[in-house]
Amino acid sequence: MQPDVVDLFLARAGERPDAPAIVTSAASISYGALERRVRALAVVFAQLPSPKVLIALPQSIDAYAAMLASGLAGGFYTPLNMASPAEKMRRIAAQLEPDVVVGAPELIETLAIPGARMIDPTALDETRRLEGAGARHDLAYVLFTSGSTGEPKGVMIPRTALAHYADWLGTLGIGPGDRVAQHANVAFDLSVFDIYGALCRGAALHPLDVEGDRLMPARFIKRHGITVWSSTPSAVSVMMRARQVTQANLASIRLFNFCGEPLLKEHLDALFAAVPGAAVQNTYGPTEATVSMTKLGLEAQSYADHCATSVALGDAIDGMEIVLAGGPSADEGEIVIVGPQLARGYWRDPQKTAKSFRAVSAQDPRIGYFTGDWAWRRGGDLFFRERVDFQVKVRGHRVELDEVAAAIRECGYPVACVFKRGEALAAIVEAQDAFDEAALRARLQAKLELHAIPERIVAVAELALNENGKLDRGRAAALMEERITGRNG
Ligand code: AMP
Repeated sequence: MQPDVVDLFLARAGERPDAPAIVTSAASISYGALERRVRALAVVFAQLPSPKVLIALPQSIDAYAAMLASGLAGGFYTPLNMASPAEKMRRIAAQLEPDVVVGAPELIETLAIPGARMIDPTALDETRRLEGAGARHDLAYVLFTSGSTGEPKGVMIPRTALAHYADWLGTLGIGPGDRVAQHANVAFDLSVFDIYGALCRGAALHPLDVEGDRLMPARFIKRHGITVWSSTPSAVSVMMRARQVTQANLASIRLFNFCGEPLLKEHLDALFAAVPGAAVQNTYGPTEATVSMTKLGLEAQSYADHCATSVALGDAIDGMEIVLAGGPSADEGEIVIVGPQLARGYWRDPQKTAKSFRAVSAQDPRIGYFTGDWAWRRGGDLFFRERVDFQVKVRGHRVELDEVAAAIRECGYPVACVFKRGEALAAIVEAQDAFDEAALRARLQAKLELHAIPERIVAVAELALNENGKLDRGRAAALMEERITGRNG
């Protein structure tokens, strides 16, 4: 059994209490001081048995402390994306029914959670400490991702799954002296790489917590001498567009970790041209398998051998397994994941859970997670081809197209089709009267995160149905394109 992340953190704090643990734009904190904060927060959490802790904080010392404290107190946590519209946060809170909410008092009012204990972490009594010898909750966290009905889907990650992933993180050689950037929003599971990759190993965690740094990440890397960087490949595209991928900016990095969407040869061309000696790894995995479960190490001399339409995903890490199901051969099919990093399923949704977490095949009764990712093998390499459903990535963010359609319907357009178009989304709706695109997009801001709002929405009097009586997506897409470009056919 792998050690729990909370115990790993406490061990590091005991070994090097003066080492920097977290360095934000506003403050920094040592391992010893972070441990005191974690134990003091845990005292408050532990007043309730097995507390469900909702973290309503941006990337900050208190957010990371609350994650560790929830485990120490025998509970689990759900982090909110503070950039989400209030309505989305309320929906998550209503589903979770948290016992404790940690956050700024004004936000807690907005969330209006009946019965939850509100904690303002700025008013904490640090003389109190929980030793945390009691039983731990079997869940570590529940992360809410885009759900096709418009209701966010809570992925339940067991402590053992997180411990397995953190154990793999331990093989990456991160340790004291490393400076690990924290780029992903804490509500996205890629942040788990940074948080536990750093805090379980004695390294310093450096959140990109101001907008300017997020727009110019390579300057942040240079300013802080970041040694470990993890993000979606989209973040490299941002750096490339700003012409920031240079030796001068990135020289301190020794490990780049990518996950979450296809890594492209052009990303690697740029990175290896700037820092040929850096280690780059592509990893693959959905939130439902605890961040990632494959790894491909890439080097300047040989990376091109692993590139097809995108960079190969690599092999399953120790203890995890990929089966390709439903394809024409054993070398092509839907990725089904088996192993100890699998989620327990979806929060209070046994139907959705049963649909995606089921026996691998009639011959293989193990429970696998059916990812919806179609993949194929060439030689020893596994490549991502496409999604087999309506889940897409928009600039690195996971979005169910049906979630966007549901939000449009709620705005009074009952017939709507949403598509990925280039790097953004676009939609077509049925509207009988004059249609105000700008007004609809403005209303969607109250329901969807910015990346999920279609860049263009066009209207027609009627959308065609196919022979099954369903909306004909092919014809809707063609019609939408015609309206947007003003071209016919
Ligand atoms: P998320 O749950 O947000 O991590 O999104 C998971 C989805 O991201 C997967 O099911 C894939 O569709 C996609 N994904 C993750 N890693 C990769 C990768 N290395 N290459 C291509 N797609 C990826």
